[in-house]
Amino acid sequence: MTSANNLQKSMLPYYQPQANEVELFEYAFQHQLPVLIKGPTGCGKTRFVTHMAERLKRSLFTVACHDDLTAADLVGRHLIGPEGTWWQDGPLTCAVRQGGICYLDEVVEARKDTTVVLHPLADDRRVLPLERLGEQLVAAPEFMLIVSYNPGYQNLLKGMKPSTKQRFVSIRLDYPNAETERQIVANEANTSEGLAGRLVELATALRRLEQYDLDEVVSTRLLIYAAKMIDSGMSAHYACRACLAEPLTDDIAIVEALMDVVSIYF
Ligand code: ADP
Repeated sequence: MTSANNLQKSMLPYYQPQANEVELFEYAFQHQLPVLIKGPTGCGKTRFVTHMAERLKRSLFTVACHDDLTAADLVGRHLIGPEGTWWQDGPLTCAVRQGGICYLDEVVEARKDTTVVLHPLADDRRVLPLERLGEQLVAAPEFMLIVSYNPGYQNLLKGMKPSTKQRFVSIRLDYPNAETERQIVANEANTSEGLAGRLVELATALRRLEQYDLDEVVSTRLLIYAAKMIDSGMSAHYACRACLAEPLTDDIAIVEALMDVVSIYF
């Protein structure tokens, strides 16, 4: 590899692959296929998409979906200004026109009317119906649609419909294996491999606890928070309480039980 290539790679947002997801994403881009990324919170979904957008040199339009998000929020709407009404493209329309990547984070949260605009974009038609303008916008060749969701949050009402799921190439991410996670924590918190390794061992032990019926386990994101605080001088005990135990539960007895595990490692 040339030094110019090396320099360009090193300027990409840092992403440590878990498996072959980078290659898979590149193939999907090459074949104009939409991608669905499943994985728990804080496991690297957003960082992965940011990295890939830079790697493929595409603009990225990220939308954090919520239960009030409608098709108009994605597509655009007429606004009223001093000179009358004018049309403003939404993030999805911008990406479709410019050949960018549109990333809909937690897509299952969005209102159901969004499927009407996503389906024709996510299959071989690759068109975006702009109903209000009476137009069908054909996506630029480099346009790519990425959606993500956390399977742990699924319920029957909010689940993604099979007819939507079946339009996407699917990538499953999870918390990385211990060695990969140690590298990520050390790199992101700019701390020693020793501290990162100890936190990852603690996380592995906490993630194994099944008796407390926690909704979520410790994420890579929380390990990075704890590593940053400990590295800059905070007591490991307090940092782990604030970054690893309290965010997982409101039940004080369970927090104390998690802290018992922490005290084996710190
Ligand atoms: P998600 O979108 O899945 O909730 P993020 O992508 O925001 O999670 O990841 C949380 C943080 O964890 C990131 O900001 C980054 O610091 C770190 N991270 C997680 N996985 C990776 C990875 N594979 N490579 C680099 N950093 C990672």
